[in-house]
Amino acid sequence: LIEKNQLSATVKKTADNHQPSLKETGCMGLCEAGPLVRIEPKGILYLRVKPEDVDRIVEETLKNNQVVDDLVYQEETNQEIRKWPLMKDVPFYRKQMKIVLRNCGSIDPEELDDYLVHDGYLALAKVVTTMSPDDVIGEILKSGLRGRGGGGFPTGRKWQFARLSKADRKFIVCNGDEGDPGAFMDRSVMEGDPHTVIEGMAIAGYAFGAQEGYIYVRAEYPLAVKRLKKAIADAREAGLIGKNLFGTSFSFDLIIKEGAGAFVCGEETALLASIEGKRGMPNPRPPFPANKGLWGYPTVINNVETLANVPIIILKGADWFRSFGTVTSPGTKTFALSGKIRNTGLAEVPMGISLRELIFDVGGGVQDNGKFKAVQIGGPSGGCLTEQHLDLTVDYDSLCSAGAIMGSGGLVTMDENTCIVELARYFLHFTQNESCGKCVPCREGTKHMLNILQKIVEARAKGEDLDLLIETAEVVRDASLCGLGKTAPNPVLTTLRYFKDEYLDHVYNHV
Ligand code: SF4
Repeated sequence: LIEKNQLSATVKKTADNHQPSLKETGCMGLCEAGPLVRIEPKGILYLRVKPEDVDRIVEETLKNNQVVDDLVYQEETNQEIRKWPLMKDVPFYRKQMKIVLRNCGSIDPEELDDYLVHDGYLALAKVVTTMSPDDVIGEILKSGLRGRGGGGFPTGRKWQFARLSKADRKFIVCNGDEGDPGAFMDRSVMEGDPHTVIEGMAIAGYAFGAQEGYIYVRAEYPLAVKRLKKAIADAREAGLIGKNLFGTSFSFDLIIKEGAGAFVCGEETALLASIEGKRGMPNPRPPFPANKGLWGYPTVINNVETLANVPIIILKGADWFRSFGTVTSPGTKTFALSGKIRNTGLAEVPMGISLRELIFDVGGGVQDNGKFKAVQIGGPSGGCLTEQHLDLTVDYDSLCSAGAIMGSGGLVTMDENTCIVELARYFLHFTQNESCGKCVPCREGTKHMLNILQKIVEARAKGEDLDLLIETAEVVRDASLCGLGKTAPNPVLTTLRYFKDEYLDHVYNHV
């Protein structure tokens, strides 16, 4: 079946090659300079394209093989302006390594054939026809793939736990409830390469024995929902999901559940409650979802980015995957670059890259030649790092040691004009607002913290308020039920650790 589909797609493409054609793709990453147009197979990238540029592109590039000079990337170095017409040379892309985003910006996400010619569903065919479930889990364990949703738990171990759970039904759930302010990594994958998520889920299902899957996606991502729905329907029609896949006894199908935008529903147990039609509130663990999850059956919840890694690991092997990143954090990580950074957008870099390279080489440095002050990494639950951390490597363990977390991949850069206390208040306001209210430390503690921060920002606080802020933050961190509450104080605690002078200035000098 795969061979037949690939062949027809290839024939179609070869026929089309005689005529230029226009294809709508997913995100190419350099959002700052959009709308982007790529001319393939030349590899030319045009930025900030307007309707009136279209005739020039057709005349100069498509008909006469010339580059439209004023639409290409320009880099200012030592008073000299250098132009980079080819996408591969653009500084934003030079240090990137695309594994998760391998098809985003290249394929038409609404065309199954386009995915198939990029080796789509070959990994699924390989696992169900040539590998045992234990082989699949073994390969993922060997790859060292860790959950990209924030926690960094080894994916193969999660699958192993669920495989060992005995039950008539099991579920695989894709967590597409990306709610961090400034984060759009998962959205870009679901919009730009929906079939890879479906394929990753089917492989996971085969590995631990689930024949049913749910994709939990925010209703605020209508394009992702639309493309996922079409991708599921197309894959079903082509026999790539459904009953007896590739002539085997393995069947797999999935449905989409739209979330209503509560940040706490990104937490695994709250997400499962939401799918079951209950109010999205976390539950204490154990029992863990791998033993007792959706409707009491063993369930694995994997993040979108984690699942997008799976097909290519199966096709290219664990050793290939391990050749990127670090020993304890193999592979790559996608980041949504925002704040006062020049190249706002979506980047995928090998783990182990330094924060300096990520912010200055990939991100292009601080906007308007401003001075770097700090970076918030890991979203509202993450931590705020400073200039002294710029040579820190980006991997789960290094970030943790500095008091931050990888989180899902939000990266907000701040310049010298950013008030750090305001920043901490902004993030705490977000988490406080999103607290589900189930447990007292988070419900009441975050409210107290927010009141104190408000007093500090308005120069009404006294010295003892700072002590109370720290004490309350520690209680919220230690006594809250779920990850939202446990990590909510992170922005406050890390800014207090690295920018205490700014807090003191607000309190004692009333600035
Ligand atoms: Fe709800 Fe916060 Fe408690 Fe989590 S920590 S259960 S979000 S109140």
